[in-house]
Amino acid sequence: MRAHLRDPITRRVTGVVLLGVALAAVVVVGLADRGSVLRGLGVPTMVLLLGLTVLTCLAEMIVVRLRHGEAVEELSLYEAALIVDVLLLPPRAALFAAAAGLVLASALQRRPVVKAVFNLGTYTAATSVLILTVHLTGGAPGSLSLGVLAGVLAGTVAFTGVNLCCLAQILGVIDKTSPWRIVRAEARLSAYMAVGTMATGLTTAEIALHSPLLLPFMAMPALAVTYAYRAAAREADEHARSACLLQLSHALAEREDVVRQFLLLVREAFGADLAMVALDSAGAALSVDGADPAAVRTGPVPPHLAALGPIDGPVHLTDDLPDGLRHLVVVPVLGGGRRFGTAAFGTRGRSRGWMTTGDVTLLASLASALAVAMRGAEHLDRLVAETSKLQAVVEQSAEGIMVIDGAGLVQVWSRALAEITGVDAGDATGRPLAAVLDLPDEEERRRLMPVSVAQPRTVAELTIRRRDGEQRRLRLAHSAIFTAGQLVRDVIVISDLTREYRTERLKSDFIAMVSHELRTPLTPIIGYVDLLRTRGERMTPQKRMDALNLIGDRAGHLSRLVEDLLLASRFGDNPDDVALQVSAGTHDLGALVTQAARDLGSARVVLDLPPEPVLAHCDDGRALQVLANLIGNGLKYSAADAEVEVGLRRVGAQVRVEVRDHGRGIPADQLEKVFGKFHRVEDPMTMSTSGTGLGLFIARRLARAMDGDVTVVSTLGAGSVFTLTLPFGSSVDKPL
Ligand code: ADP
Repeated sequence: MRAHLRDPITRRVTGVVLLGVALAAVVVVGLADRGSVLRGLGVPTMVLLLGLTVLTCLAEMIVVRLRHGEAVEELSLYEAALIVDVLLLPPRAALFAAAAGLVLASALQRRPVVKAVFNLGTYTAATSVLILTVHLTGGAPGSLSLGVLAGVLAGTVAFTGVNLCCLAQILGVIDKTSPWRIVRAEARLSAYMAVGTMATGLTTAEIALHSPLLLPFMAMPALAVTYAYRAAAREADEHARSACLLQLSHALAEREDVVRQFLLLVREAFGADLAMVALDSAGAALSVDGADPAAVRTGPVPPHLAALGPIDGPVHLTDDLPDGLRHLVVVPVLGGGRRFGTAAFGTRGRSRGWMTTGDVTLLASLASALAVAMRGAEHLDRLVAETSKLQAVVEQSAEGIMVIDGAGLVQVWSRALAEITGVDAGDATGRPLAAVLDLPDEEERRRLMPVSVAQPRTVAELTIRRRDGEQRRLRLAHSAIFTAGQLVRDVIVISDLTREYRTERLKSDFIAMVSHELRTPLTPIIGYVDLLRTRGERMTPQKRMDALNLIGDRAGHLSRLVEDLLLASRFGDNPDDVALQVSAGTHDLGALVTQAARDLGSARVVLDLPPEPVLAHCDDGRALQVLANLIGNGLKYSAADAEVEVGLRRVGAQVRVEVRDHGRGIPADQLEKVFGKFHRVEDPMTMSTSGTGLGLFIARRLARAMDGDVTVVSTLGAGSVFTLTLPFGSSVDKPL
């Protein structure tokens, strides 16, 4: 008991009950000898007592529920009946009729015990105050005098005050607010009710006294008011319900969190104490209880719902319901060709007026709407999942993917495509394809959209120019959809063929180059061999020697060519990869430069060498090959009468040979490329100068293999300076 008393609600209820008991005791003891305020009806007090007790009970049971704002006010005729009791019965009997009528009504309506006890305490206290006030200020009893009227007025005010204060005590705890605030908020409504109550009670008592025959008619205004209130209440309910249903239809249409929204709004619209949706697939139930109307709880499906199994139509349950429920309406959540589960709505209060057949039908259709919305939400989820999967495919594909709409505007532009073209998706989408891609000429532009109704799937190749100037060769595989001859959509998969294209070009260039390079020395060899064979004996020894020297020279050239090809095939593409064995020693680089110049046999080579030997740590044969290539290029790529200057000096731990020509020079963007395998600045197809594009590639590799390098500085149209750097060599040989 002590533990119970610590609970604030129990404490307040106990306080109210004790107050009721105390005030009742004052009435019972203090007014023991008093008779009724108004003259009796001429019926024995016992009969009157019984009749009024039943009347009081009925008055308590006839309730009008008035909705104002979020709250619902329950109005009964109980208070009016109390005034009749107090006026027509002696104090003790009046107290008894009031209490017994209330207990009877609570029992008949199976109200929760705490509520019934609290009501009993409150009304006993308030009724006692009413009785005391009326009897003490009511003047001489007997007939309805001004004194009695004043007593009833003061009593009703006192009654209402006590009633309101007791109620505020409990509501204050429940709403966690001060009881005084509740008293102030409710005072006006209570005052109106007190006036109505008093008028009804007085009139009823008066008519009962003087014209009892008219008494049944007295019920008529009360009934009319009751029904008018009910109609107004129903209308207000309908308004509130319509607002809820409107909100619900929005919630269902938005398809977000549909079950939650459904529960919250439908519970409110139908004034249910409990709303629950049991989902078959989840084996769980979501519920909202009127005690905490904002919280949606998840739990197992309750046994009484599970026991129902799959239902096809509404079911009304009244027996063996848990949680104090008295009625439970269960409807199937069935729609869009699927069964999702059941929805249940219950009440703990009186059942009259709750869930008419129309309400149940409405509920059933709302449950179907819920099912359709859930189905829609499922579809939407699936669609979103599919779309994001598709998006992932588009985004992660190594091939570029684009989608063009019927108006020729870009709709989709994948990441790979952005990389291939150098145009971001943001810059491409919404624009015509021809404006997005930079195509070199009109013919390429014509090939951009080759699809037609007759040829919706086709492949085209074209070259585009990126913003950085690089050209890319692309293959566009189109899959177009046409409706009524109009293009609806074209999905294009783009492959970057640039690498294959370059390789292919490189291959054909290589074949063209090699066959040209081989044929050049072979032609004189074959010619002179033929000459020697047919007319050799008739030739002077000098001419024969000249022919043989030429054949030897061209054969040497051929052999160098083959040597270069073999050497190039041994190097990888990585310039720092020096997979070449060189035999290192210390050599006079000046002597090697002189020999290279002499081997080339050109008077255009001008040497600027220091008088003393300049030692370099190198492979003399390889160094000679590099020097021959650099000086040879200087001669080849400058005018026939232009000089090529070769200088040599030592710089710290290095020795440098500079080969300077005054020829055509090399474009800045090609300065590094000339060291690439087979790279030639001139178009290989025109072959303005002969060459393989291997000389500098091999020269740099060899120099690096000897811990040196070959670099170039060049001005287009003015000439170039190629520098061979090698480590300075001391007189003592050391291995590399
Ligand atoms: P090849 O001379 O056989 O073509 P190289 O590897 O020696 O091959 O040279 C590569 C390219 O570099 C040449 O095709 C030429 O275009 C350019 N080049 C080399 N040396 C010079 C130079 N001294 N002046 C101008 N261009 C040069």
